[in-house]
Amino acid sequence: MQAAFFHGVRDIRVREVSDAEPQRGEVLLDVTAVGICGSDLHTYLLGNIGGVSSADPIVLGHEASGVIIALGADAPSTLRVGQRVAIDPATPCLACEFCQHGQHHLCTNLQFMGYFPQHGALQQRMVHPARSVVPVPEGISDVGAAMLEPLGVALHAARLGAVRHGEDVLVIGCGTIGLLCVRLARLAGARRVIAVDRYAWRLDMAANFGADHCLNIAQDDPVQAVLRLTNKRGVDVAFEAAWVTDTANQCALAACNGGRVIIVGIPAEDEFTLQASVVRRKELTIIYSRRMNHTYEASIALAARGLIDLDALGQFQMPLARAAQAFESAAEYHSGVLRAMVLPQMKG
Ligand SMILES: [Zn+2]
Ligand SMILES: [Zn+2]
Repeated sequence: MQAAFFHGVRDIRVREVSDAEPQRGEVLLDVTAVGICGSDLHTYLLGNIGGVSSADPIVLGHEASGVIIALGADAPSTLRVGQRVAIDPATPCLACEFCQHGQHHLCTNLQFMGYFPQHGALQQRMVHPARSVVPVPEGISDVGAAMLEPLGVALHAARLGAVRHGEDVLVIGCGTIGLLCVRLARLAGARRVIAVDRYAWRLDMAANFGADHCLNIAQDDPVQAVLRLTNKRGVDVAFEAAWVTDTANQCALAACNGGRVIIVGIPAEDEFTLQASVVRRKELTIIYSRRMNHTYEASIALAARGLIDLDALGQFQMPLARAAQAFESAAEYHSGVLRAMVLPQMKG
């Protein structure tokens, strides 16, 4: 079988590797869909993520779905061969202090696939802990099942933001996570949802996902535009879902007194600046969102009920043999390439 390895900046190579056998507590999967995340693009373009890197080639990809083709010993009785599943990239230890307090995403012994040093899903087959695969209903496609992971990230951020009915919401950055934040704010009963991006085609998607106002930073200063739209008041909740460099501070400037700023993006330089006087005078609550915790059940329910169109996010699809092209198209923001999807079972 084949796997796509990251060798260095803008260098993805597909090569033959041997099949793995599922061990105790594991399942063997045919991988059906993998989304290329913004964090994968950080690695692709910068060679590291948050300063973490590796000398050895690594298989990236942590947003994935698959079909179970073999079960190791002691697999849960809820799983069977032929079952379609979402692959939860995170396997917490369940024993550390943070796991015991239910903060599985903050586990100190967390295993996370597709992140140095653990291989991810950009391969035709993979083994994965059985307790970290989630059966999905027929109504959710393979691409949709892979997109349950970014939906979980957005849902975690949305829960931290706790949007209430009638509140005004700003989302800066209309990639996959930003669009899902737009959608979740709409579903939560926001009054006005304001979306900001630099690409018109992404703002069109934001309108489809429920944004009332779509601001292009090429034409508008987002902070001035938000203050104009809200009669100088600012928004109750601002989600930062871009690359953070200036956008976290724009969220702070656009928030109302007592507002909440939720930071989901990952800064390219591993640093960002907030204007202290603004944050202090408004008594803003600044919350950093870290991946997700206990989101699959709710995400599946939202997708299965048709409340969120996950397929719309993954229209650009490539076979594994063309994984390098999928990365390049996503990194260059080619029109319509929201989540570049690699379909490892697709003939290439
Ligand atoms: Zn991701
Ligand atoms: Zn733990």
